[in-house]
Amino acid sequence: MSVDLHLHTTASDGSLSPGQVVELAANLGLNAIAISDHDTVEGIQEALAFAERLDTRVIPAVELSSRYNSRDIHILGFFIDYKSRVLDKALSSLRKARIERAEKIVVCLQGEGLDITFEEVLEVAGGASVGRPHIARALLKNNQVSRISEAFVKYLKRGSLCYIDKFVYSPSQAISLIHEVGGVAVFAHPGLAGLDEHIPEFVAMGLDGIEAYHIEHTPDVVKHYLQIAYDYGLVVTGGSDCHGPLSTHGLRLGTIYVPDKTLVQLEKKRRL
Ligand code: AMP
Ligand code: FE
Ligand code: FE
Ligand code: ZN
Repeated sequence: MSVDLHLHTTASDGSLSPGQVVELAANLGLNAIAISDHDTVEGIQEALAFAERLDTRVIPAVELSSRYNSRDIHILGFFIDYKSRVLDKALSSLRKARIERAEKIVVCLQGEGLDITFEEVLEVAGGASVGRPHIARALLKNNQVSRISEAFVKYLKRGSLCYIDKFVYSPSQAISLIHEVGGVAVFAHPGLAGLDEHIPEFVAMGLDGIEAYHIEHTPDVVKHYLQIAYDYGLVVTGGSDCHGPLSTHGLRLGTIYVPDKTLVQLEKKRRL
């Protein structure tokens, strides 16, 4: 049996509601899933409510954006106290920074002569933690690009025309925040971050685990991070990073095998 410890919902940039994600996971026979939206825990309550009448367990989680050496690093927090006021305050400032960045990106896009307004982006986001995918969807809706990936390549990805950094917590702050609210801190998709040489520094900051299994990691990459986990005594997690059927990668849920024992090990690191 498999688990999936990395999933997004409409609370951030996923296209399925938390309830839909849990129902789908249950239909696919997944034992447990983690709802890990970008800088928000808004989807967790609904997911837990759906899980009550299904055979799939829901683990409360979050995926915090961070930066190190001008590179993006995402840090997952598992078994967090998702009702914590400390967490709410911290996530609220991150989401505020996301909104401010979106507004600046829209101004840049308008400067490039594109038909898009900030209101349209907010409408696409529908109250979710605003991310670049919402801007990409608004551009697509207005026929300014022919696909989401085009929006990223031309305008939104780091190094492209309208890329703008958002305020984030440092990895050390993100790890401390996760610990403060009872969570287990895990380096998400390290194979995409290009920060391997800094892993010892993250370990010194208190990092608990590493996401060795990830849909974009080849078998060799998985092996590489399993070895790193072993070397540094890190717990291993894994997930599909599914953003729903409408995302550029399509529905990833159910397409990756993550052993149940990862959750057993993760649970041993629980602070709550
Ligand atoms: P943000 O949270 O605003 O930094 O946006 C990051 C999110 O955008 C990621 O979690 C992905 O869901 C999505 N994303 C990043 N790069 C691309 C890309 N090249 N094509 C499509 N989606 C992307
Ligand atoms: Fe995302
Ligand atoms: Fe991520
Ligand atoms: Zn993710």
